[in-house]
Amino acid sequence: MQEKLELSGIVLSSTAIGEYDKRLVLLTKERGKITAFARGARKPGSPFLGASEPFNFGTFSLLEGYDAYRLAGAQIREYFSDVKQDIEGICYATYFCDVLEYLCVEGIGDTGILNLLYLTLKALARPELPDRLVRRIFELRLLALDGEGMEAFACAQCRDEAVSVFYLPKNGLLCRKCAEKLKDGYPLSESAVYTIQYILGSPLEKLFAFQVGDSVLVELEAVTDRYFAEHVQKKFNSLQILASLS
Ligand SMILES: [Zn+2]
Repeated sequence: MQEKLELSGIVLSSTAIGEYDKRLVLLTKERGKITAFARGARKPGSPFLGASEPFNFGTFSLLEGYDAYRLAGAQIREYFSDVKQDIEGICYATYFCDVLEYLCVEGIGDTGILNLLYLTLKALARPELPDRLVRRIFELRLLALDGEGMEAFACAQCRDEAVSVFYLPKNGLLCRKCAEKLKDGYPLSESAVYTIQYILGSPLEKLFAFQVGDSVLVELEAVTDRYFAEHVQKKFNSLQILASLS
């Protein structure tokens, strides 16, 4: 008899295939991104019906096949029902999962990125935190975890610690002197610099423990938009739907 694997992770996407089945992409702690088929998951009364929904977090029992896994059971610990309450929450959560499905590599486990997604979905469910801020925190920290972190703690040109200008060609922040020489930088307020440093440097569990004013959020959005587009060259449908809602 084939041995069952127990992997903990999150359902990144769930697509209907065939008459009754689903194809799941899971992000797991042990094996990174994997594809699993849930047979009969769309039949009424199937034990996989609720378990195979996107954003579900828990332990998945899987049978390993030649080129994919087969779902044999699941113990869901978190459904993120609050996130699924409104269309905006669903769009943001789908976007975070789409980005990871695009960036993560099959078969390579990564606890940091999985934890980031879990905490981001938790943060998305908190009404006092603006979704727009949650998105930018996720994007900046994710690129750092993925080895494309922004140079934000010292001038990307001369290593001076008094940084105040974002400069995309150097993948980071510059001091005032270097910014004058290189031109075309994006000047930042002190609060925006501190916010970026906090996002990149704080422990994951404290990542969503702050708020910013509107003007700092606008600066953060401008910087992250440019930085993220430079490193992730894909357009995500979920973001287009989000834009059409506002
Ligand atoms: Zn400098």
